Amino acid sequence: AEVINVIGGGLAGVEAAWKAAERGHKVRLFEMRPKKNTPAHKTDKLAELVCSNTLGGIDITTPRGLLKKEMELLGSLIIDAAKRTSVPAGGALAVDREKFADYITEKIENHPNIEVIREEVKEIPEEGITVVATGPLTSNEFSKYLREYLGQEELSFYDAISPIVYADTIDYSKCFWGSRWGKGGDDYLNCPMTEEEYDRFYRALMEAEKVPLKDFEKACYFEGCMPIEEMAERGKETLLFGPLRPVGLIDPRTGKQPYAVVQLRKENREGTLLNLVGFQTKLKYPEQKRVFRLIPGLENAEFARYGSIHRNTFIKSPVLLKRTLQLKKNPRVLFAGQITGVEGYPESAATGIIAGLNASRLLEGKEPVYPPETTMVGALLKYITSADPKHFQPMNANFGLLPPPERRIKGKLNRRKYLSERALRDMEKWLKGLS
Ligand code: FAD
Repeated sequence: AEVINVIGGGLAGVEAAWKAAERGHKVRLFEMRPKKNTPAHKTDKLAELVCSNTLGGIDITTPRGLLKKEMELLGSLIIDAAKRTSVPAGGALAVDREKFADYITEKIENHPNIEVIREEVKEIPEEGITVVATGPLTSNEFSKYLREYLGQEELSFYDAISPIVYADTIDYSKCFWGSRWGKGGDDYLNCPMTEEEYDRFYRALMEAEKVPLKDFEKACYFEGCMPIEEMAERGKETLLFGPLRPVGLIDPRTGKQPYAVVQLRKENREGTLLNLVGFQTKLKYPEQKRVFRLIPGLENAEFARYGSIHRNTFIKSPVLLKRTLQLKKNPRVLFAGQITGVEGYPESAATGIIAGLNASRLLEGKEPVYPPETTMVGALLKYITSADPKHFQPMNANFGLLPPPERRIKGKLNRRKYLSERALRDMEKWLKGLS
């Protein structure tokens, strides 16, 4: 019988291996640790959490709460492990990281269908179906190989993420739509600033608290992902020639060019998410909220994704992948985890389940599948495979990815409740249809 190779024993890799093995397929799971380490992992365990020990909110009206509930329906090993090894953390699912990784390592190593091979993989194996789940710190040699295999421009080594806000939390009376020099139609929402407003914003930005860079992240700035606060440190005028430049933009309410302008661009086709153009940042999350809410129109903005800059390895999924996570140019190769351009522990694990399911279906002679876009898993898959490839940056679970409710629902919590219930219903229906 044919084998399924899973490369990388992290959050996505163990889910893919588990799903395929539970469906009765032989799996070879390759993990390079402890022979070769990453700059962030500290142990030789599978599914090691490299930083915080939380998998996000529990309540299904939070994006990650909904995602985790869907993962549970999909038979997630990560969620099973997290529930068994949880520690109290208010409304969040946090775990004892040692016990969490121990539980998973034991389950995987003792599965009769899984062979764990402690080796660095340097190219995609010729034999069998392969799931690539080597994560944000994919080994150098394999990264180099992937660049050759996929195309030089199709693999990034850093992310430079600008914050994204929910479109329905913006005060449009203070902004206007339009592009610089009138070119490109109404592609951008412009938030104009007076000199006083800019001064206030600039001071807040200079004083805000930053997340220190890790050593292995420092090379990033040479790759042209300068954080906005770093740019601001070069002088008060610098931003006015950079991301906040007003030239070519006339405020229709005054007929004049504003002193400074922040531009927001639609992040998805539905226009439910707007991206602060050029605002990649290392500010701490609460500081982003405080400082960026000083931008006119964003006083009450809710953030769907905060800005960040990381060492990260990810492929240009909108060009390379089908929504089933298969590589377009070789459908017997699938990708899963952070390397596909999702961001976060549960997000990475969730794509691992789908990759494991589809690798199995390929062996079973069935069509690969994906959950409906009304589910959080389905919406993430849709996003990473249909986002604008020019601006593609990793994405976490959030409600702006889901199609809006079919009817008007008053109140944020009611809307989220509706979206979550619809998602879970659709996921259950979809799963029933598969079996
Ligand atoms: P990983 O969990 O990293 O798994 C990939 C595995 O592949 C690793 O075990 C690695 O050793 C192995 N591997 C790599 N190359 C090869 C090879 N050539 N051959 C064999 N094995 C290989 N997300 C959060 O939600 N919260 C956080 O706090 C958080 N902190 C992070 C901190 C850092 C420093 C980084 C880099 C990322 C962080 N993330 C965080 C993002 C992301 O959720 C995690 O990185 C997550 O572990 C990704 O899951 P994954 O399965 O894609 O990759």
